[in-house]
Amino acid sequence: MQRAARTWKLGELGIGFVPTMGYLHAGHLSLVQVARKEVGAIGRVIVSIYVNPTQFAAHEDLSTYPRDLRRDLRLCREAGVDAVFLPSDSAMYPGKGEGSYSTYVVEEKVSSGLEGASRPTHFRGVTTIVAKLFNCVLPEVAVFGAKDWQQASVIRRMCADLNFPIKIVVAPTHREPDGLAMSSRNVYLTAQQRLEATVLSRCIRECQSQVRQSREIPVGQLVDLIRGKVEGETSGKLDYAAFFESNTLEPVERVKKGTHLALAVFFGKVRLIDNARL
Ligand code: AMP
Repeated sequence: MQRAARTWKLGELGIGFVPTMGYLHAGHLSLVQVARKEVGAIGRVIVSIYVNPTQFAAHEDLSTYPRDLRRDLRLCREAGVDAVFLPSDSAMYPGKGEGSYSTYVVEEKVSSGLEGASRPTHFRGVTTIVAKLFNCVLPEVAVFGAKDWQQASVIRRMCADLNFPIKIVVAPTHREPDGLAMSSRNVYLTAQQRLEATVLSRCIRECQSQVRQSREIPVGQLVDLIRGKVEGETSGKLDYAAFFESNTLEPVERVKKGTHLALAVFFGKVRLIDNARL
């Protein structure tokens, strides 16, 4: 991968990169289009597909994470992707568990709340693998989805702090027609849970309309409203609903126009997330 990337660079071709865990959907493909716009028709758009073990906790869904490589490769070809990078576990973490792989990248501030609080080892795995993928693909531009807002913020911070010469672009969340944010994990949902799962985007819309009607709302009031909708109207369990400044992820006490909302909901073992600027 590095050899190919260096050759493209010698030819002055820009490299745009979309890291994924595969089982691609229209959300991923929208990032490919953004990467293509960034590097132009003669640039190179690279997608990586790698289900990164270090970002999953022991009790999480690593072994059952959905995979369909043939379909992913077809979708990439149809979307005009120039190369798909498929590293193996032994290439990424040689000797892990036997004591030889021992270097990790840790961001200590932006990653601490929200997803980081619910999944304590998650972002250490994300920053480590993204740093490694950047060193393999050598992109000028990398595209991430707003669906994982905190992840994009953590990666931005990592690039600034570690001097990665890479422009980070965040592309909007792609949704199903009924509002559910597209996610590879949506396939785990039962038919009933799939219907109920629109509660995440409905909570966002409800908070948006409340914020439009009043100038400032105490956080507790909106968290109660969200908990009531999730746990009163569906079989879901609210993991968290958090209100914060979009750029810094600093929590706020009063919600107003422009405040960011992120929420995570369990349907059985399936954990869904969504977020938006209100
Ligand atoms: P994943 O394969 O879930 O690790 O996601 C790979 C990239 O696609 C990440 O940057 C995600 O934020 C992004 N992504 C996932 N779902 C969506 C979506 N519905 N809309 C936009 N981007 C997404």
